[in-house]
Amino acid sequence: MDLFPYEARAIQKDIVRNIETTLRDGGHIVLEAGTGSGKTISALVPSIHHAYVHGKRVLYLTRTNSQQKQVVEEFRRIRKKAGDGELPSPNPPPAPADVYEEVLREINSEMDGLEDDGISGQVRDVGPWEGGPGRGICVALQGRNNMCPLTSEEAEFITGTPDELSKMCSERKKNTTSRMMGRPQGGPECRFFSAYLLDDGMEMRRWAARTCPTAEELVTECLRIGICPYEVTKALLPEAVLVTAPYIYFLAPFIRRRLLEWMGCSLEDLIVVVDEAHNLASFARELSSISISTGTVRLALAEVESMGDHRIGKLHTIRDFLDMCLGALSGIAEEYLIDEDGLVPPSALSETMMMLFRTNSNRLEQMAAEMMHHGQAIQDIRKARGKLPRSYIHRVASFYLTWQELEFDSFSPLIVKGGRSGDLSLEAYAMDPSIITGVLSAVHSSVHMSGTLSPLNEYRDTIGLPEDIPLVKLPPPFPACNRRIVFDNELTTSHEVLSRDPEMLPRIRDRLAQVLKASKGRNTAVFFPSFDTLSAVMGSSELEDGTTLSPSLDVEREMFVEIRRSPQGELMELAGDFRNSRGGVLMSVIGGRLSEGMDFPGETLEVVVIVGIPYPKPTARQRALASFYDVRFGKGWEYTVHAPAARRLLQAVGRMIRSENERGYAFIIDRRARHFLDEIPDMQPAENVISDLPGFFEGKL
Ligand code: SF4
Repeated sequence: MDLFPYEARAIQKDIVRNIETTLRDGGHIVLEAGTGSGKTISALVPSIHHAYVHGKRVLYLTRTNSQQKQVVEEFRRIRKKAGDGELPSPNPPPAPADVYEEVLREINSEMDGLEDDGISGQVRDVGPWEGGPGRGICVALQGRNNMCPLTSEEAEFITGTPDELSKMCSERKKNTTSRMMGRPQGGPECRFFSAYLLDDGMEMRRWAARTCPTAEELVTECLRIGICPYEVTKALLPEAVLVTAPYIYFLAPFIRRRLLEWMGCSLEDLIVVVDEAHNLASFARELSSISISTGTVRLALAEVESMGDHRIGKLHTIRDFLDMCLGALSGIAEEYLIDEDGLVPPSALSETMMMLFRTNSNRLEQMAAEMMHHGQAIQDIRKARGKLPRSYIHRVASFYLTWQELEFDSFSPLIVKGGRSGDLSLEAYAMDPSIITGVLSAVHSSVHMSGTLSPLNEYRDTIGLPEDIPLVKLPPPFPACNRRIVFDNELTTSHEVLSRDPEMLPRIRDRLAQVLKASKGRNTAVFFPSFDTLSAVMGSSELEDGTTLSPSLDVEREMFVEIRRSPQGELMELAGDFRNSRGGVLMSVIGGRLSEGMDFPGETLEVVVIVGIPYPKPTARQRALASFYDVRFGKGWEYTVHAPAARRLLQAVGRMIRSENERGYAFIIDRRARHFLDEIPDMQPAENVISDLPGFFEGKL
């Protein structure tokens, strides 16, 4: 605990102790500790200490870039506590010449026909690093879309995928280096990269070692002297005892290989901390899934218009293939789409295309391969013009070929109807995140933590962690009397009950009105499982326009109603107005941006009402997932229906208490809440909310 920068609370000591034991044994731990526990500092202290003593490195993965800031700030405090600048590095930092030679080797590997030894005399000759060994630093790494200054100069770049931006960057670095070597290629260059190569790097390294900047601070400093922030960050990585990066840097195999190269270590050298771990499985599924939409096919047709059509096979053109793709997608939708999605046979795509083209599967694959070739040529042309190497023709053809090769054991083939656009998508939905998260088992240790991770065994199995690892659930970090959670033991929004009992909805509405009257004067959020339930309970079909609420809910309180698909800016404004209100009511959906992503500190949220249980919708995707986990663990319902509903409930309830001095009252209007007593053990059946709620805040309970 020597590195803990302030007096550790009991729960923090608990977290540290658990993680220390895990690190000592070189294992893994899944840990749930509520918001306000101080998880970040409690995970960093033992991890960094272990890294120093045993020559390891800490990789702290976050879901969003904004979460990195806290990691960097806590590291600064740890370093200050240890005596600024006195922390030893886990490995001796490489001599700077090695670092830059590595950068040059990297460029060289991207350069056609240029010799290694042609470079060294043309660019800076860096001397020994005056910062000296013995200084551990922290590096915050973000993608090029945040760190490459060209993204603010070329509007298109901000939309680039990691792969597109990486290719664009390599091309510009190659051209820049070639010109600096006296062999100009004439293509687009990067002035930030040439300045980076010519800079002696010492000033920046000393500054970074002194300040341990956030990614945003590093970008600002690099722009001040006109050098590339991304390259500077890469160059700092070998010296870092702590690297914080978005999930994708570890989960995408290609990017992970590069990161390990840049850090100069192997998987066994890593202590990985996964923050907000409840997001990991869905992130991994999204990363592994592939899809193609009618919108993308139409963009490919527009590309044919602008770049020209080409013959593929003997009788057809790219345009024919794309038209057939559109026809196939709508044919598949006609046959298999129910509401928003539908399960399709894996062979449906090629069979429909074969029927439309009157050809066989081999010829179709041959045509797709030729399309890929043309798409590649378009990517090269765009790259040479300084654009993103993007081709929609390539995307369609590549999807077609990948789909044909896919093993569908752990992928679910789906036709999906998009929201506002109404686009159709054919998707191979990756049901098993452990295919890519399983790599976590290969690191020295991993720490998976979140305030809402229960049920922990589901998380462990879904992520693919070993069965015998510790699953630790710590009590809330505030006194038990600060929170009261009750549930209505009579009412329910169960679809089955609603369809046979016409009185149920009005009764739910009345109960909600009672709670809103009882909580008058206190900011209250009401979360519904979906916009459909919101509209049904509120008794208004006009609610989507934010115009009308049922008269029975006229409780004389200021209402803030989330509108379906409202843009992020409007949503932030709504949340801000609600925070600033005195006794306002926020109506929103659970599992959305307000119930999970935003903070409502202090008295800006004191009461949470949850109407219904946020079970996932029984879509085809959901059913496929349930039967996958039934086969694998015999726990389809528990892992794919109960577990996500439990986390959503915990997330929504967790909005109201963000620090140990706050108090909050949650009311769940659904008798099925009793199935979640394992995850929310302090929940009780409601008795008389009209007296109970005000009594709680007046301290009479
Ligand atoms: S070298 Fe840096 S500034 Fe230049 S393209 Fe690459 S990331 Fe952007």
